[in-house]
Amino acid sequence: MNIPHKKEFLVDAYGRTIKSLRISITDRCNLNCIYCHNEGSKCSSGEMSVETISNIVHIAADFGVNSLKITGGEPLLRGDLEEMLASFPPLKDVSLTTNGVLLRDRAHSLKAAGLNRVNISLDSLNEENYRRITKSGNGIFRKVINGIYAAVDVGLTPVKINMVLLKDVNECEIEDMLSFTRQFHGKVILQLIQLMDFKDSSRYDVDINKIERELEFKAEFVKLRELHKRKKYYINGVEVELVRPVDNTEFCANCNRLRVTADGKLRPCLLVSNNLVDVSHASLEEMPDLFRLAIKSRVPFYRK
Ligand code: SAM
Repeated sequence: MNIPHKKEFLVDAYGRTIKSLRISITDRCNLNCIYCHNEGSKCSSGEMSVETISNIVHIAADFGVNSLKITGGEPLLRGDLEEMLASFPPLKDVSLTTNGVLLRDRAHSLKAAGLNRVNISLDSLNEENYRRITKSGNGIFRKVINGIYAAVDVGLTPVKINMVLLKDVNECEIEDMLSFTRQFHGKVILQLIQLMDFKDSSRYDVDINKIERELEFKAEFVKLRELHKRKKYYINGVEVELVRPVDNTEFCANCNRLRVTADGKLRPCLLVSNNLVDVSHASLEEMPDLFRLAIKSRVPFYRK
């Protein structure tokens, strides 16, 4: 048995200590976004049981991970998510990224089961545009908006709205999104995400430097987050975070995240797929060494 010592952290060869775990619990999704990277998965061979997911989270916590993000596919397609949440050890931050379609009716039970907050993907406030981006049908947009209100109501806050910036599709909507966010008086944060080209979607690439200059111009002040050295802008009562991963050496140098695929593989980097470490059938005793192995192959994708 090789259980982590109380003070053992996962530190890679570049001095980056793993503090955050991003775990995909399904590859299934109820939307079909035109740009989606599906967390780097091509469609995996199965889903982990609650027990396996819980074991992974316990081991990560033993290694000092204090922040957990649950993702997918669409994580709310799993009816056992509440059971999963209730099985986790205490962590500083447990969050979920969801498209929000099924959120309204689950917000309360998720909060009760231990979820702290949610990120909700909303790329457009224009219903027709939303349908085009997500390839969804009538009524879905309204469900997402209701999901946002429900999340705020039950205190899954701060709610982050994830907006992937798409040239000629939604980049002109940032101001509308700021106004929408402002009504929540600080309980909602707008997160603007640079597109990563996984689906031959480079035609949607925005001029991210221009966006950054505009945010800087509008902001009363700017802060830096520890994770990825992301910039946070404070614009007339709204907090706006810019996620700028592409060609960004600072982003990688400050990445403290380990990923887990829906079929139970530790994934050291979203952009690399040849160094996955399978923990899906590992016992609690075997897992720590597999975590250590995964960390050994962790290299910043963009580096100087
Ligand atoms: N279905 C959930 C959702 O919509 O949030 C979780 C999975 S989704 C893959 C997680 C996040 O990744 C979403 O905020 C989505 O906008 C973002 N995302 C997906 N593909 C992306 C891409 N090519 N570039 C940047 N962000 C992307």
